Amino acid sequence: MKVIKFGGSSLADAKQILKVCKIILSDDERRLVVVSAPGKRYSDDKKVTDMLISLADASYNGQNTDVILDEIVERYASISRNLGLDNKIINLIREDLVSRINTKTESYNKFVDLLKAAGEDNNAKLIAYYLQSKGVNAEYVNPKDAGMILTDEFGNAQVLPSSYDKLSELANRDTIMIFPGFFGYSESGEVVTFSRGGSDVTGGVLAAAIKASVYENFTDVDFVYAANPNLIDNPFPIPLFTYEEMQELSYAGFSVLHEEALAPVYKVGIPVNIRNTNNPDAKGTMIVPGKMAPKPTLPVVGIACDKGFLTLHVHKYMMNREIGFGRKLLQILEENGVPFEHMPSGMDSISIIMREKHCANGILEKMIEEIKTTLNVDSVVAEKNQAILMLVGRGMTKSVGVATRATAAFSKSGINIRMINQGSSEVSIMFGVEESDAKAAVVALYNEFFN
Ligand code: ASP
Repeated sequence: MKVIKFGGSSLADAKQILKVCKIILSDDERRLVVVSAPGKRYSDDKKVTDMLISLADASYNGQNTDVILDEIVERYASISRNLGLDNKIINLIREDLVSRINTKTESYNKFVDLLKAAGEDNNAKLIAYYLQSKGVNAEYVNPKDAGMILTDEFGNAQVLPSSYDKLSELANRDTIMIFPGFFGYSESGEVVTFSRGGSDVTGGVLAAAIKASVYENFTDVDFVYAANPNLIDNPFPIPLFTYEEMQELSYAGFSVLHEEALAPVYKVGIPVNIRNTNNPDAKGTMIVPGKMAPKPTLPVVGIACDKGFLTLHVHKYMMNREIGFGRKLLQILEENGVPFEHMPSGMDSISIIMREKHCANGILEKMIEEIKTTLNVDSVVAEKNQAILMLVGRGMTKSVGVATRATAAFSKSGINIRMINQGSSEVSIMFGVEESDAKAAVVALYNEFFN
């Protein structure tokens, strides 16, 4: 059995949904189907999930919700009309949305999750209804009944390991199952979502649970490319790479897959195939466990870049002699709920790289104050507007000269490298540069390793 997931752009309107149904029905093994909410039909369009967040905000703040509610229902109604369906499903969708906004809860986060989840839930119902109308043995699967139980971190949940047993029973059903992505239920029965783009995670969890032969993730590109096509013209397509390489890339702005989607399949070694709904004949990109990957022909498979980082430079003379300094420093981050990305260090200094979004609302200033008062440092300075580039490839392992080529490429383009970090796995090298240099840095690396 294959798990097959379709993203929002694949389900944005009736035309796209027809393509999706054709893809599902063209292969008997495509039996567990994960769907997102309808996404954008054109670049200025709104995603249904974003509209649902606006609906939640309006309702929570006691404002009139009629206009936005009608707008959301109309997104589904136009799909349903163009699929030739009767009004029954649209009436159910309206009732569902009204009942959600009338659900009383004190917590904003719980309320938004309840509304956000409606996007995928109603889309799954609509698609199952359409397939049934065509005589297909399809069913909508409710994530609660199926056992998709998540932590109660609203808007940022993780699957509970105990979910897998119950979810594995889905393998025994003989229907085409349409499973809404992005959400599950907490142990106390409340709707809770993964972070944005989380339908990918649902797909990964289900693929691991039923031990799928492959997890097919359909989106709107033929391949994953070696660099961002918005920065590089016709970048090199990557036909195959490993989980480890994908993890490194997706963390720094490769937005093909949600960065948590691979963890469940990684543990069981299920290959992931990224494919294009608009061109289903393209074989797409395979992401496989390291042991299944052929020997790489190039040292580098991809270059990722993301902005919005900040670096905290902490300086203290003879820091290296002070046992426990690193732990105390990281404890300050932990107590402020801030994850860190990298931590290059010298004898007297440590730099901690974090995402700016995690340090907003005064958290940065608070941490700086705490570092100054509790660690007695010489200086602590925050630098914002940093970009991180990741040069990724399992072919770099034991290959000599990759860093030299990269730094020479930067120097030829006049780019100042603020930081370099290479993990001992040698699958990636990280470079920190000013945000204003980010594009030129990607171009420089791409030209060096691919042109
Ligand atoms: N619809 C959700 C979002 O826009 C989840 C997803 O599409 O994966 O974030």
